[in-house]
Amino acid sequence: MRKVLRLEQTKGYSDKAVMGGLDRFLRNLTPPDERLSRLLSLSYSTLDTSERERWVKNILTQLDAGEQKAVPLPRPTLPRKKPLTPRVKPGNGLSLNAPITSIRGISSGLASKFDKLGVKTIRQLIYLFPRRHIDYSRKKLISELEVGEEQTILANVWEAAPRVTAKRMRSTEAVVGDESGNIKVIWFNQPYLAKKLTTNSQVVISGKVGLFHGRKVFQSPEWELIESDDLIHTGRLVPVYPLTAGLYPRTVRRLVKGTLDRWLPEFKDFLPENVRKNAGLLPLPEAIRQAHYPDIELSKDQARRRLAFDELLLIQLGVLAKRRDWQEEQTGRAFNVDSRCLEPFFNSLPYKLTSAQRRTFAEIQSDLSKPKPMSRLLQGEVGSGKTVVATAAMLLGVANCYQTALMAPTEILAEQHFNTICSLLGKASSDTDGGKPVSKFSSMLPHPIGVGLLIGGLKESAKQEIQQCISAGDVDIIIGTHALIQKGVDFHNMGLCVVDEQHRFGVMQRSALRGKGPCPHVLVMSATPIPRTLALTLYGDLDLSVLDELPPGRIEIKTKFLTPEQRQRAYDFVRKQIAEGRQAFIICPLIEESEAIETKAAITEYERLSRSVFPDLQLGLLHGRLSGAEKEDVMRRFHSGGIDILVSTPVVEVGVDVPNATVMLIEGADRFGLAQLHQFRGRVGRGQHQSYCLLLAETPSAEARERLSLLERLRDGFKLAEEDLKLRGPGEFFGTRQSGLPDLKMAKLSDIELLELARREAIRLFNADPYLKQKEHGPLAKEVSRLWESEGEWS
Ligand code: ADP
Ligand code: MG
Repeated sequence: MRKVLRLEQTKGYSDKAVMGGLDRFLRNLTPPDERLSRLLSLSYSTLDTSERERWVKNILTQLDAGEQKAVPLPRPTLPRKKPLTPRVKPGNGLSLNAPITSIRGISSGLASKFDKLGVKTIRQLIYLFPRRHIDYSRKKLISELEVGEEQTILANVWEAAPRVTAKRMRSTEAVVGDESGNIKVIWFNQPYLAKKLTTNSQVVISGKVGLFHGRKVFQSPEWELIESDDLIHTGRLVPVYPLTAGLYPRTVRRLVKGTLDRWLPEFKDFLPENVRKNAGLLPLPEAIRQAHYPDIELSKDQARRRLAFDELLLIQLGVLAKRRDWQEEQTGRAFNVDSRCLEPFFNSLPYKLTSAQRRTFAEIQSDLSKPKPMSRLLQGEVGSGKTVVATAAMLLGVANCYQTALMAPTEILAEQHFNTICSLLGKASSDTDGGKPVSKFSSMLPHPIGVGLLIGGLKESAKQEIQQCISAGDVDIIIGTHALIQKGVDFHNMGLCVVDEQHRFGVMQRSALRGKGPCPHVLVMSATPIPRTLALTLYGDLDLSVLDELPPGRIEIKTKFLTPEQRQRAYDFVRKQIAEGRQAFIICPLIEESEAIETKAAITEYERLSRSVFPDLQLGLLHGRLSGAEKEDVMRRFHSGGIDILVSTPVVEVGVDVPNATVMLIEGADRFGLAQLHQFRGRVGRGQHQSYCLLLAETPSAEARERLSLLERLRDGFKLAEEDLKLRGPGEFFGTRQSGLPDLKMAKLSDIELLELARREAIRLFNADPYLKQKEHGPLAKEVSRLWESEGEWS
């Protein structure tokens, strides 16, 4: 063949080297590899002289190169590759927990970059899953390319050169070709690519095809040279890993692939075989391999399903174990729950309890009657009336001669609770001792009830006094903030603690409060509406009570989604409400970059509103960079009416009852989740006045419009939460970090089917073998403790 081509060169590319023309000659050859075969399938007779010259030279180069290296060129479609050479330094006995520096090719410098991704050990590298895959597997011929679609070609680089394009951009322009034709490729702003795309290199190009002067062209597509030893970067579903500065995609792919090849054969599946089969899941090593380098789209999904199941199952098993430890290894105090003792209280209420309140209280009552400590989550959206239920529970504790504590996240909330509870208890008698640290109420129970408030803002002497009362047992209901869990606060005999807005407290704070009494009953309350299945997973160690009914007679908050042109009308509306004596909130957009930027934006907005929109009104500003005392001060002024409009960043949850506030104006509403918008909305409509929620969005997408219109229609927080889960997924809806759960990499909490499956299997396993002591559960037990140890305690 070489001879023929050389002859053709001497004949000036006249297609006279062989009888019948080169095309016929070439067709009868068996090319040494696929790449040559594609080159050879070109029709020589149709080329002009200069193209023939280039083509012949190209083939000759290839043939020479092939002879020297005898390396077969890569094939465009890939069957499963044989494993790469092990890249782990020799030395058996290395465990999966060995640092990644024991992998050949990972220096300590490189390791520190992986460290930023949370990858320290070999196991963690194996579990470093790609964020997505680029599909380079569906290739097209150049002649088949269609304008406007994402497509991939495998082509030969004819030439590539730096160019300065019309807008003075330094770019790379290339012509690439396959057997079906040629196409131009432009990479804007990347002149350096020209050097990498040497003539005759094989390249995969993936991107959208556009038209330029009527001709098809790739503009700044993804590209990858095909390297001779390996097709992990191209020609398949290619993983896209999370990266940090100095860590390059190719490096991560190469290292992960080498590690998988070396370690997966030794990977044991910790799931009992029957669980795996019941749930129809891939074996673990296979799932891991497919999650990184899937054969096809479907196997990627199956891999994800298996790995997600693992995460959910391990969480469930951990949660169930915690609950068992908490309840079985500790004996609580059984209360006498004869509800006749609460009759004076219930009779004195200015309203009738809703049936949801009665039901949830009965659930609490039944817990309290048992010698196991209660561990219950009372969920109910803003305004559903959790306080009165909690108060009734605390009264039961007091009737049983125990102290009870209620912890709230802010001083204002604590004060609000103190006032509410005092007035609930004081309805029948008002013998409060003004100025004393403890207010006494004598008409609810046979013996007087002492109620006290402990917050950081108290004078030192007042604090001392109340602390003494607490340790002497002179106060029965103690309401407070974090101050309750400080050292020096010693309860005489705490039998029940209630934590309000529990998500606002850290793990340690909650358990610190719990630790203030010997195995007290615990009731946590939350206004974040979480769909039931999700709640069971997140808080599976807690029993769940849901207040799914609002007290009657609530005036519906009118919700309106406005276009930017209607902003002035929104301001006019706010002004009108204030003229009528009401107050308003304005929430600034969520800015994800940083709290600092968000704060700055809020300050700018506050100044703009104060200067040019509402110069004659009193505005207040609330943002995350204010100190606790400053926040409290602003809220107090708003609460007392000194501020007409409170401008606030979304980081500050405005968790206070300001019945006089009737307008909630939310800027950049399209950036929030429905659940969050609903929370904001719940800040108004707490008094007797008609209230309004105005949603502003600059350029909402169609999807955002749809979401916002849901908010106009739905007022049920749980329904909204479910819709939100469907539309946006749980990451947006409810950060798992915030929930204090182990980080979920694979599981989507919106996948209710898998959640339920994992929960069912966990319960089945747990019932059969609560301590996972059976031999076949050994690996699983180890996996559960690994997860929970690394995450620390929560709940
Ligand atoms: P939550 O803490 O769940 O947001 P609250 O306990 O603060 O709600 O109650 C909200 C308001 O509803 C309070 O003003 C309370 O007095 C009132 N409320 C509670 N229960 C009822 C009821 N059964 N009927 C009428 N109003 C009620
Ligand atoms: Mg509340």
